[in-house]
Amino acid sequence: MKIIVQKFGGSSLATPDLRRQAARHVVRAKDEGYQPVVVVSAMGRKGDPYATDTLLQLAKSVSHCNSLLNLDLLVSCGEVISAVVMAETLRELGVEAQALTGWQCGIMTDDNFANSRVLVVHPERIMEVIDQGIIPVITGFQGVTEAGLVTTLGRGGSDTTAAVLGVVLASEWVEIYTDVDGVKTADPRIIPDAQTLSSLTYRELVELAHLGAKVVHPRAVEIAMEEGVPLKVLSTAPTGQGTVIGNGKRGSQGGERVGDRVVTGIAHLSGRSQVKITGKEDFNRSRLALKIFDLLAQNDVSVDLIYLSPELVAFIIDQDKAQVTKEVLASLGLNIQVEAGFAKVSVVGAGMHGVPGVMARVVGALESAEVPIYQTTDSHANISCLIKEEQLAQAIRSLHDEFQLSKGGGSK
Ligand code: ADP
Ligand code: MG
Repeated sequence: MKIIVQKFGGSSLATPDLRRQAARHVVRAKDEGYQPVVVVSAMGRKGDPYATDTLLQLAKSVSHCNSLLNLDLLVSCGEVISAVVMAETLRELGVEAQALTGWQCGIMTDDNFANSRVLVVHPERIMEVIDQGIIPVITGFQGVTEAGLVTTLGRGGSDTTAAVLGVVLASEWVEIYTDVDGVKTADPRIIPDAQTLSSLTYRELVELAHLGAKVVHPRAVEIAMEEGVPLKVLSTAPTGQGTVIGNGKRGSQGGERVGDRVVTGIAHLSGRSQVKITGKEDFNRSRLALKIFDLLAQNDVSVDLIYLSPELVAFIIDQDKAQVTKEVLASLGLNIQVEAGFAKVSVVGAGMHGVPGVMARVVGALESAEVPIYQTTDSHANISCLIKEEQLAQAIRSLHDEFQLSKGGGSK
């Protein structure tokens, strides 16, 4: 029996019409001789009655300081509702389907509430349902601890559920259905003429996803990559060919060599704050740098774009962490400036390593667009620049144009 996992995101399940459209992909897979295993997110987006954001809003309206344990149980209901509605939509189309929660499916996690990791899956229940000729419709985004407490996997966590089940059930591939027709050279909300990339390597997508391309959760890509389960990112609406993600050979199509592109796409992360810290003493000798990063780690503040010199420590944080950052560092007696309103824009390409002139092109493009750069960092496969949030669209546009990503997708 050839299993395929099919995951549907919230925006693909927002209305009865969209849900029927989603269900038809499941019926088609079944008609083609595959055994579908469906994974769903909560239905809709912010403002929709059963969406994750709506449930979070409800929790906030009750208490300023929710217990994470209660919060996880509440938000997990969004996927439960969605799984039942989707199972019934499938039954309306004439196929037998059953909703199953994360805990019913033996998706065991650690107890890091709101951001837990899947430790192991006991797939017996899923297999029992399949053996009865029933399509399982499984709640994404959630699991259960050994003590029986419901946990959630963090935003975008349904992708992770799909990838984990893809591995555990030895799925032929995993289909991620969403509201765009694949992974594109930039966020189509900002660059409407961004091109769909027909194939990508896992590494390219891991990089894009970590740097903010939220179309697939980075952890999901890493899990699929470890076991070599191919991913397909597809539109729920019947348009486009989508993107196939594999390990290079499997992911390549029509002889095109993927993974060698100098620039594959542009990713971005909004809502960043820049922190700049100066003091009277040398940061290295005083060991104050260590204290700063220790305190931040203890308080669950992750830092990025780190700059460290004897006179200055600078880094960026999620702007939601600005208050806690100021509070925990206050005791050190340093001069701390936290400024909101930044975004990080990244040029991503696994083939840029050793290619001269990429940085010059990045700086040149941003300069021509009159976008000042406040900090940069790079690795073998990306160059990231910190810019003002209000200039994000023009920054992405200038880089997208510089690397000619609207033409053909992926700069050689
Ligand atoms: P879902 O509800 O299906 O999980 P998400 O909102 O999590 O959907 O992800 C899809 C969105 O990701 C798209 O609507 C798009 O705006 C955004 N996105 C950001 N970067 C990219 C990219 N490089 N390619 C495609 N989509 C992207
Ligand atoms: Mg998503």
